[in-house]
Amino acid sequence: MKLRERQLLPFRLPLRTPFRGLTVRRGCLISGTHGWGEFAPFDDYSDGQASRWLACALEQADGLWPQPVRRRVGVNAIIPAVEPDAAAAMALSSRCSTLKIKVGDAMGYRRVAAVREVAPTAALRVDVNGAWDLDTAITELRRLAPLVIEYAEQPVRSPADMRALRSAVDVPLAADESIRIDRLFDEVAGFADVAVLKVAPLGGVRATLDVAQRVGLPVVVSSALDSSLGLAASVAAACCLPDTPGDCGLGTGVLFAQDTAVPLLPTDASVDFPGYPHPADALEVAEQDLAEWSGRLERAAAHLTPPGQIG
Ligand SMILES: [Mg+2]
Repeated sequence: MKLRERQLLPFRLPLRTPFRGLTVRRGCLISGTHGWGEFAPFDDYSDGQASRWLACALEQADGLWPQPVRRRVGVNAIIPAVEPDAAAAMALSSRCSTLKIKVGDAMGYRRVAAVREVAPTAALRVDVNGAWDLDTAITELRRLAPLVIEYAEQPVRSPADMRALRSAVDVPLAADESIRIDRLFDEVAGFADVAVLKVAPLGGVRATLDVAQRVGLPVVVSSALDSSLGLAASVAAACCLPDTPGDCGLGTGVLFAQDTAVPLLPTDASVDFPGYPHPADALEVAEQDLAEWSGRLERAAAHLTPPGQIG
């Protein structure tokens, strides 16, 4: 199916809590022979990077996912950079036994401590998004260690700092940006204990399965702040992995005040394989963004590699 034969539905969805500095998630749904896919690369992503999001959208829209080997995956709750009291309340209401907490700001430690107090047996993950330098990371992780941290996600940005940090602290390290942006698939096992895989930035379900095999680490599949239509691709990847992944970062549907499809929300700390969802009847189409998204899509398409290839 040619690109210009596909229908585009740009969207602007309000978030319940600011996330990644955003209060509105923008993106575009794209039609295919089988249904719809989501193309929503962040504004700062290059055309080359965006081409992988497009590959993911087209794979979904054209019905090219492999068969799942499980129908349900466990999820962690996500706790954004909110006040410690609010973080504790979110932890309690999530009813998840794995909680991922954003840190890296001045309130990070207090946020984690507040969550630990109300969730004494939960597995706690912290995500720093590479914000710390090596010295800060060593200090902060030594301070956090008594709170019992399952892993710290990308506490520092460079592989050299990850390696140095890993030998200085006991908290296991997970790599996100090193995989999603730097694409260090063959090196990451040398500086991290867990691989966080995001399906749209990696180029879709099949590309994610290839990367999972290549990194040779335990895998956690996470959303790239996808709406529920895009989230379906991430859940599909988690359901297709040969080995059961750790609790995945796929409970992010709760962050959206409005959604593209029927919201894909966790029940009993798990999400179900959703099949191929369709846009909700009530989806408000952001017609004013159409020219921008069709331009972005065309530029991304120029960088597309054949499906299934890790470009
Ligand atoms: Mg992360």
